[in-house]
Amino acid sequence: MIMNGLPNGLYFQVVEQSAIATSITDLSANIIYVNPAFTRVTGYQPVELLGQNQSLLSDKKTPTVVYQALWSRLQQKKNWSGVLVNRRKDGTRYLADLTIAPVLNDQGEVTHYLGMHRDVTELHGLEQQLLNQKTLIESVVNIAPMAIAVLNDKGKVELDNLAYKALLADFKNREPAHLILDQLKIDVLPQADSKKKDFTALEVAIDQGGKKKPRWFSCSGIWFDESDERAESFFERNKARHLLLVISEITGLKAHEHAVRCNTMRTILAKQEVVQSLREILNGAAYQLQVPVNVLSAVTNMLKQREDKGGCNSSMLEALDQALDSGRKALATLDSSKPTILTEAPVDVDLNELLRDVIALSEERVSDMGVVIDWQQFEGLPTMKGQQWQLRGALKQLVDNALDAMTQVDGGHREIQLKTELCDDMIKVHICDSGPGIPDELRRSIFEPFFTTKRGESSAGMGLPTCQSVIREHGGMIWVENSILGGICMRLQFPLVDAEKQG
Ligand code: FAD
Repeated sequence: MIMNGLPNGLYFQVVEQSAIATSITDLSANIIYVNPAFTRVTGYQPVELLGQNQSLLSDKKTPTVVYQALWSRLQQKKNWSGVLVNRRKDGTRYLADLTIAPVLNDQGEVTHYLGMHRDVTELHGLEQQLLNQKTLIESVVNIAPMAIAVLNDKGKVELDNLAYKALLADFKNREPAHLILDQLKIDVLPQADSKKKDFTALEVAIDQGGKKKPRWFSCSGIWFDESDERAESFFERNKARHLLLVISEITGLKAHEHAVRCNTMRTILAKQEVVQSLREILNGAAYQLQVPVNVLSAVTNMLKQREDKGGCNSSMLEALDQALDSGRKALATLDSSKPTILTEAPVDVDLNELLRDVIALSEERVSDMGVVIDWQQFEGLPTMKGQQWQLRGALKQLVDNALDAMTQVDGGHREIQLKTELCDDMIKVHICDSGPGIPDELRRSIFEPFFTTKRGESSAGMGLPTCQSVIREHGGMIWVENSILGGICMRLQFPLVDAEKQG
């Protein structure tokens, strides 16, 4: 007999040979048929099962509510699918992924139940292992002090930890990963594949806006491929690039480093200042002594000529000679007393960087005095060959002078404008202040040794002459002009050509 185009008995053969444990029961779940796969899974021979209730397989670990749900579905003539804990003939447990379907007759009445199940113990074990590992990884990642995020190749954060979420809140929902990657100029989009290299401990400063100081982060990134989970990719094994980004905050460390660096700079500059001032003072003193010695020398020579003509008394000449000799000796002593200048090899100097250092060194004073610093740095300013400590000291002197000048003005707006620029093949630096300014008649004198308007304030008047010597030694110039801020502008320029040649 042929049924629906199928040979008679084909259904039975199909069920018999099926790899799925299949059973047919009456309405009370008493077994009337099992296939060989059922025997393989449960360990029971058909003869041991026929007439027995399916509950024979129950391990009694499945909650009653599950059976109630199962039977409730069956009574509604609906299929039921779920997982039960079963026990084999040898007593071992297994998880049965079971589907039960009511079998209806022509009148639509349920006459039997068809049960099909497979052992999913191993699969469940793997799923649980995976879940456990996931839970473990998530817990570890979550308690990690550093912020961790995984980004897909569209730049979307697919996974993050608590520290990252905290960072997100701190940055008012601006995605921290994007802020950091933008700073690092790292592209997550697929077309930038060739540039996708892992990176370690790259330091980034993120501006917090307003008057808040930037926060510093050390960032590492690892690119990895994640297999596409979709069915259509089962045979193609499509992979999508992801970036694991690990962000550690180092603001505290940076502040400490900054403080140590500032202290070191202060120590070096203070030592250098003492040496330079002493040298300038001795130079100035020698210069002032040189004038009477020169006069004495001229007078002595003149008298000697007269003596030749019999017009001068030799004892007077002797006295003058002695005085001249003492003067020369004093000059030699002054010269030999000059402390040796700290030797410093010329290096590539970035004047922007030196000015930044100077601002950092003056930070506390600037804030105490309520001074606004308008810092206009020329982006990409070329470096020049020079003695960085000498130049740093000179720039600090000029900024200190501007701050000193502003203390002489009570109240009002206090501002220092620092500007670097590159023009006419010159690197130029402008340091302008809103101080009281310098009267025209004094402008020539301010670069002279011992000239000071701050008498009685422990000022030797050697600051500007020292600055000028340093700048001249670097082939540069310094001069003073009026500032639109109300005070003066110290203008410095250094030849770029020399710097390039030397470089
Ligand atoms: P039971 O007293 O048998 O039943 C527990 C609850 O189920 C009761 O509270 C009752 O409300 C409900 N219930 C039981 N029988 C009926 C019924 N005839 N009509 C309405 N409600 C009922 N169980 C397994 O543990 N493992 C299996 O592999 C398995 N395969 C099955 C295959 C088929 C085709 C069918 C129809 C049932 C299968 N069952 C299986 C269910 C099984 O028949 C039992 O219901 C179950 O094992 C619970 O048995 P029990 O003796 O612990 O409790």
